[in-house]
Amino acid sequence: MTTTSSSRISPPAAADRPPAASRLWHPFSSLGGTRASELTLVEGKGARVRDKDGNWYLDATAALWYANVGHGQAPIADAIAEQARRLAAYSTFGDMSNPAAAALAEQLADLAPSADPMVFFTSGGSDAVDTAVKMVRRFWTLRGEIDRSVIISRGLSYHGMHGHGTSLAGIAANNAGYGMAPDPEFVRVPHDDAGALRRVIDELGPSRVAAFFVEPIIGAGGVYPPPPGYLTEVAQICRSAGVLLVADEVVTGFGRTGDWFASASYGIEPDLLLFAKGVTSGYVPLGGVIADRGVWEVFADATAGAFRHGYTYSGHAVACAAALANLRLLVEQDLLARAAVLAEELAVRLPRLAELPGVREVRCAGLLGAIALDTVRDPALPERVVRQARAAGVLTRVINGDSVQLSPAFVLTDEQLGQLVDRLAEAITAADSVR
Ligand code: PLP
Repeated sequence: MTTTSSSRISPPAAADRPPAASRLWHPFSSLGGTRASELTLVEGKGARVRDKDGNWYLDATAALWYANVGHGQAPIADAIAEQARRLAAYSTFGDMSNPAAAALAEQLADLAPSADPMVFFTSGGSDAVDTAVKMVRRFWTLRGEIDRSVIISRGLSYHGMHGHGTSLAGIAANNAGYGMAPDPEFVRVPHDDAGALRRVIDELGPSRVAAFFVEPIIGAGGVYPPPPGYLTEVAQICRSAGVLLVADEVVTGFGRTGDWFASASYGIEPDLLLFAKGVTSGYVPLGGVIADRGVWEVFADATAGAFRHGYTYSGHAVACAAALANLRLLVEQDLLARAAVLAEELAVRLPRLAELPGVREVRCAGLLGAIALDTVRDPALPERVVRQARAAGVLTRVINGDSVQLSPAFVLTDEQLGQLVDRLAEAITAADSVR
């Protein structure tokens, strides 16, 4: 008897089934190390999430820097359901559009630090980064300056996990051993040294340099605020060398600094601005590139031809409806102002942790923070702190090997902020003492 396809896909009997979730290959984890400690989350409310056994945790990181309006916001869920029932999605390739994508592009254009921008949608941040690399190179090709192909980025920067973004970023461990050979077209400068950017542009010759990519606040590389004046200085260097300035605001966008974009907080007007995460607070994946007129009008020229780039889900109607509802919530609940208040409070409370044994330094900027631990003395300390914090009801993670991340939702209460910092302090003390 031949096996029918339906019998082949029927689930195995319960007893034969592998342990729950053991087939879930977790991103950024060692497959051998994470299966035993897997934490299954089933519900979220505000700045808290609940696991399948009923334990509630304070979410110190807003998931992966994205749940800006917090978990369980019914207006976003309703907007998603309504849009899914009406028209979940239709490609926006060519001349196709939908009201949600058009309305969101309009709103983002109003919020962006740019007078007359266009918005290109992607499915997430990595897509936005690789889109921007291609947009930049296409821009210079259309302008007839084909030698302008070098892209400069900052050490410690993170620009997603696609091909260009991985090469571009300054986290060496993400390149080594993945076939990402050093690419002479991607040049890195120290993250805090504007003079180094000027020197590299001078050495290469301005006519070789296409763009400078900058995370206004370094995020995954360890939460490094820009040194005072750094961003306006690099913006000025780029302007005078004719180099495009690309702000990767995947983490910093939509309120983390108390403004819609960190570019506005730090007084820069990038040629391209990349967003994702906070645009929907992660309720549905979405990202994109906001292009200033100086860039897009070159593509609009009658002789330019098509920009041969796009994603199946560019302008996905459900994702755009989620973003519109998310933006509405940020405004109606005055959450940017709340983020600014929380940021000030964090800047007061977090430095106290620098006194603890095992802590090397603390850093914060906007509602972003990192506690850097002494990994020279004890390389395992950061992971132990994260485990202790989890046991004490706080979810966080290690960034850049030595630091513990803080990037809570803007709906965190004053009491929860106090609990967060206190429990992290206790976790550090407990983890340090079991050395
Ligand atoms: N750019 C920055 C600054 C990021 O922090 C991230 C993700 O953390 C990305 C790009 C990539 O975004 P995604 O994971 O949505 O592809």
